[in-house]
Amino acid sequence: MKKIITLLLILLSINTTAFASQIQNISADAALKKLKTGNKNFSQMHLHHPDVSKKRLYEIEKGQHPFAIIISCSDSRVPPEIIFDQGLGDLFEIRNAGNVFDDHVVGSVEYAIVHLGVKLVMVLGHQDCGAVKATIAHNHESKYIESLTNFIEPSVEKAKNQKGTLCDNAVKNNAIAVAKNLIESDSIIDDYVKHHNVKIVPAFYNMHTGLVELIEDKNGKQ
Ligand SMILES: [Zn+2]
Repeated sequence: MKKIITLLLILLSINTTAFASQIQNISADAALKKLKTGNKNFSQMHLHHPDVSKKRLYEIEKGQHPFAIIISCSDSRVPPEIIFDQGLGDLFEIRNAGNVFDDHVVGSVEYAIVHLGVKLVMVLGHQDCGAVKATIAHNHESKYIESLTNFIEPSVEKAKNQKGTLCDNAVKNNAIAVAKNLIESDSIIDDYVKHHNVKIVPAFYNMHTGLVELIEDKNGKQ
């Protein structure tokens, strides 16, 4: 009887360890390195298509363990799995036109960092973003489009005083604004940034080169 109990305890401890190791995700820096490597592969059109196989399909049937959260635009020209050369179960994506901030975005990020153990959040704006262009053009065709442009508007205003392309600068300001809003929201995200090594990085996708670059927040110094 004692042997059976011991065996059961060993089996239980193995299961617990396995579960714990599954939710221990890679660090933010390691995740960023993976994204950079994948993006380099894509920009050179040397795609490796990792994690796209029947084996992977069956593997992730048991659960997901993505290594990065990508908040990006719905634009069909910016599919995260392709531009970062990733596969099934690798990226937890939150997409809407203009990659704007709202409660659904906060809830989705919270879920992924708390329950899936993801350490890196990338807010990815892109060149020639239609939602940003609609904001610049003062498109008020519906209250729903306006719900997007209202959020982007301050980023456009800020871009008017910056050197360079108005649209690109507004896209970058918008990605920075979303990153800041995530931290400043009354959610647990800030706590995970301060105490659990979660990092939030704004980034910009160049549609000509295919390269993603991190955006430096100059805190209004531009
Ligand atoms: Zn866009």
